[in-house]
Amino acid sequence: MSQAAPSQTTPNHTRQATPSATASLSFSVTRAATPRTKAERDAILGDPGFGKKFTDHMVAIDWTLEGGWHDARVIPYGPLQLDPASSVLHYGQEIFEGLKAYRHADDSIWTFRPEKNAERLQRSARRLALPELPAADFIESIRQIIAVDGDWVPSAAETSLYLRPFMIANESFLGVRAAHKVGYYVIASPAGAYFTNGVAPIKIWLSTEYSRAGRGGTGAAKCGGNYAASLLPQMQAYDNGCAQVLFLDGETSSRIDELGGMNVFFVYGTHKLVTPRLTGSILEGVTRDSIMQLARDRGMTVEERDVTLGDWQGGVESGAITEVFACGTAAVVTPIAELKGPDLSIGNPDAPAGEITMALRQELTDIQYGRLPDRHGWLTRLDTPAGQA
Ligand SMILES: *Cc1c(COP(=O)(O)O)cnc(C)c1O
Repeated sequence: MSQAAPSQTTPNHTRQATPSATASLSFSVTRAATPRTKAERDAILGDPGFGKKFTDHMVAIDWTLEGGWHDARVIPYGPLQLDPASSVLHYGQEIFEGLKAYRHADDSIWTFRPEKNAERLQRSARRLALPELPAADFIESIRQIIAVDGDWVPSAAETSLYLRPFMIANESFLGVRAAHKVGYYVIASPAGAYFTNGVAPIKIWLSTEYSRAGRGGTGAAKCGGNYAASLLPQMQAYDNGCAQVLFLDGETSSRIDELGGMNVFFVYGTHKLVTPRLTGSILEGVTRDSIMQLARDRGMTVEERDVTLGDWQGGVESGAITEVFACGTAAVVTPIAELKGPDLSIGNPDAPAGEITMALRQELTDIQYGRLPDRHGWLTRLDTPAGQA
């Protein structure tokens, strides 16, 4: 029997995407009647901040159980109309992605490993009982927003256009089951350099009271619910003078999982890099995967394994762990100076950014901005039709 033939026995199978290299949806385009003027756009791009300003357009695609994905469109950016009974508002059936468009020195526009985000959106969809958007349609949705709003990709150093694809259950039904009606959207927001005064090491707060994920939960899915659960501990981090919160595993409260929205790495001198293994409660970051590859390329040993709080403390005290950093698309790589907890301090709050940390950060951004050869084929050009380089 052909492996590719999907079973038709349950309607739920229509949530699965059939792999295809080419986009199957075609997009209609409705231009904004009053897009921002060049002067208005330049003012925003001159000081974009993060996540506060949005481009003139957005992508929307609808899905129904009967009809599958349909009505792919580029429309003016604006509020969604949601019935108050929409399931996402009650049961949180929502997932999202985050990636960036980078402008290179020759003005071309690129993105970084979008197929990874497409696959992760599919994995998140499976866990949240949402339909899988075919990867080619995901990438086409990114191309479409760049086709209309490419001028919004800033050109100053370390700036980008942050792309936020997301999917919500929008069936008007209060019964508890996977929704039969879903919307997928892409919005875009110009992003300034994350660190405006040079990369500054941060202090992070150990949450001893709360977890972000448990065994069999949604930790490996990029869903809004995980973030909702992290906001209270994140507030406690702020109250304790820390920029981010670190979560331990929910089962034993001894292993390091990750930060609220970033993966964590330990540097052992120049020879070894260690990061917590994927247990099902850790989000598999694209930056995490890329950093591991760059470290291997440098001849470093890369270990994905359990890291306990004791390993961290002991490693720093013995001098074996020389640097700690966090990574994710938004901030790329962020040095961690100190871990603080109710009765705990590991590291030195005044420590400068580590050398390996900064070298990996520099190499990754150099690839993303086209300043170094793309030796792993990680970049996809966005400002040309699909298939052209
Ligand atoms: C998105 C995210 C990351 C980082 O993933 P990247 O693909 O590197 O941006 C890490 N942890 C969590 C919880 C996330 O949601």
